[in-house]
Amino acid sequence: MSEQILILGSGNAFFTDGRAHACYLAEWPDPSSEGSIRMLVDYGASSLMRMNQEQIAPSTIQSLFLTHFHGDHIGGLPFLLIHFKYIDRRKEPFWILGPAGVEQAVTDLLEQMYPGMELDFPLYFKELHPNESTSFMGASIEPRPVTHRPESVALRLGFPSGKIFAFSGDAAMDGLLIEALKGSDLSIIELSIESQPDPANPTVAHVSLQELMEQRDAIQTGRLVVSHIYDELAQRVNQVNSERPGFAEPAFDGLVLTL
Ligand SMILES: [Zn+2]
Repeated sequence: MSEQILILGSGNAFFTDGRAHACYLAEWPDPSSEGSIRMLVDYGASSLMRMNQEQIAPSTIQSLFLTHFHGDHIGGLPFLLIHFKYIDRRKEPFWILGPAGVEQAVTDLLEQMYPGMELDFPLYFKELHPNESTSFMGASIEPRPVTHRPESVALRLGFPSGKIFAFSGDAAMDGLLIEALKGSDLSIIELSIESQPDPANPTVAHVSLQELMEQRDAIQTGRLVVSHIYDELAQRVNQVNSERPGFAEPAFDGLVLTL
């Protein structure tokens, strides 16, 4: 199989235009078998529904990477965990990778939504430190710091072929984000707004189209896809792209990106 990313959710926190919360499925060949490794990246409230729609069986997933702990990036995780317990009767381990505090964030959320829930499969957490690369099931995982929440990281995923996928998570447009994407073959960045409310003093820690137009030439990536969007913003990106080929492509729920 090829190395690929399936966009399960291309929307913002508000489900604007019916787009689902942030969720991506990365897939690469398993070095130890004929099969493939599947790692989810972020898991919003709608993500299990989207997996059902795309006929992605949760039992085929080995791991999840979380970029930060906002609800539209983590809020659906308890549903996945109880699916493993009650529907799959999972026995295989499941790995959750993320920034500092990931274990606490997930266990607190599960306790709030399903108090006293006992999971009867091995659930392992791996706290990753920014700028440290970790080998994981044939790939390499490297979080990079970005400006959004204190724990926020972008993901750099090095596939077994050597190709690099970079995902911004949620992030302000600044030097950290540009550095996190540098030299990647494919990048997905969040694009939340048309412009900053006060351009002289940006306070919204999300990327705006205006900033992307200003900074696009500094972003060194083979292919740039924007997500965390709504339909009108996607149309604006298409307009810019027609005047400036290679600018960026808008994501949609169900889009498959092959490396
Ligand atoms: Zn966020």
